[in-house]
Amino acid sequence: MSIPDLATLHALGAAQQPTYPDSEAVDAAVSKLRTLPPLVFAGECDELKDKIAAVSRGEAFLLQGGDCAETFAGVTADNVRNKLRVLLQMAVVLTYAASVPVVKVGRLAGQYAKPRSSDMETRDGVTLPAYRGDAVNGFDFTPESRVPDPQRLVDVYNSSAATLNLIRAFVTGGYADLRQVHTWNTDFVKESPVGQRYEAVASEIERALTFMQAIGADPVEFHRVDFHSSHEALVLEYEHAMTRIDSRTQMPYDVSGHMVWIGERTRQLDQAHVELLSHIRNPIGVKLGPTTTPDDALALAARLNPLNEAGRLTFITRFGAGRIRDGLPDLVEKVTAEGLQVAWVCDPMHGNTFEASSGYKTRRFDDVIDEVQGFFDVHRSLGTWPGGLHVELTGDDVTECVGGGEDLLEVDLGNRYESVCDPRLNRVQSLELAFLVAEMLRKA
Ligand code: PEP
Ligand code: MN
Repeated sequence: MSIPDLATLHALGAAQQPTYPDSEAVDAAVSKLRTLPPLVFAGECDELKDKIAAVSRGEAFLLQGGDCAETFAGVTADNVRNKLRVLLQMAVVLTYAASVPVVKVGRLAGQYAKPRSSDMETRDGVTLPAYRGDAVNGFDFTPESRVPDPQRLVDVYNSSAATLNLIRAFVTGGYADLRQVHTWNTDFVKESPVGQRYEAVASEIERALTFMQAIGADPVEFHRVDFHSSHEALVLEYEHAMTRIDSRTQMPYDVSGHMVWIGERTRQLDQAHVELLSHIRNPIGVKLGPTTTPDDALALAARLNPLNEAGRLTFITRFGAGRIRDGLPDLVEKVTAEGLQVAWVCDPMHGNTFEASSGYKTRRFDDVIDEVQGFFDVHRSLGTWPGGLHVELTGDDVTECVGGGEDLLEVDLGNRYESVCDPRLNRVQSLELAFLVAEMLRKA
């Protein structure tokens, strides 16, 4: 089993790629990446695929979350831990309140490249290439910083390796032990009602654990969690260089992350991203926006999952709160009628972005909730399973999305706006979302 070479892929047409000024430097970076060890093992990708198969059968719920765009500067112990911590807290709330296994996937350790609506950015009459993520160029608005530099792809590898190393240490080394369920909430309790609500859940779990221990049960699941990495497979040079033939199966896997997805802007059926991902054996996602027709979805499934294998394909819908109730039913109905095995996941972020009067890109917490509610309503009326949630969030107390229990206002956005791309839910908003979704799940 082989995969097409990079030149063949580019010849198909590839949207959203950097224009590198120096092709020899690109070759050098790609050659370097090809020599580096895998970041994840193919067998781990298979395990995640099995878990997503359970999602597609309605037996589990996928929680996928992290930054819109990771940055190299953001690879610090605190930052990585805080992101993991909020995801663990959300997963506990979802698992406990809804009694459903939660498949935990970070949008991290590789989420460094961004599609942009415009190639160029103009500020005060100066026009420069748009920032395409730390994988491509620098965020600073200077001509030097905005030149695409392929050496950054090697930096993506190193930053992802450092992030994954810490995550693996946390999830197997005691931090994710369920007996830490209270510890994840420290420095949080007194300040917020949602923190106190979490505290109540944590106490119930602790009582249950004590009981289990008293009767002599202490399964390994209490002490460690499975946690997987994911990112948008965008820059072909990186994803291609990280695609390797698995020694067990002789099949190609993209070993830059456990799961990779195709974005809304790069899902053209005959072009490079769909072609590359059709060859790898990882579980994959495709973002589907409001212009997606049922035929588009069927054609994508035929190209990306011709054997109709459960767990292989996740459709991540991102319609917007105002469009999901009208737009989603047709898609789900036709895909289901064809007997296709897919996991349906709701991204309630990307259809709900707007620019505040202050100029900040933001999202309303209520719109996010409304889209998730619409997602659950549609699936309930069709008898299909609302399989998961794909969210942009951070474990820090940023001010990027408005609303939520703290009632962040547009005037607050400047207080702590740190995202270099899309606005993320902060820690309080993320946990509030988890409690609301747990209620929806309980009724599903
Ligand atoms: C993203 O996930 O950050 C993104 C760009 O999403 P989409 O492809 O759905 O627009
Ligand atoms: Mn985004």
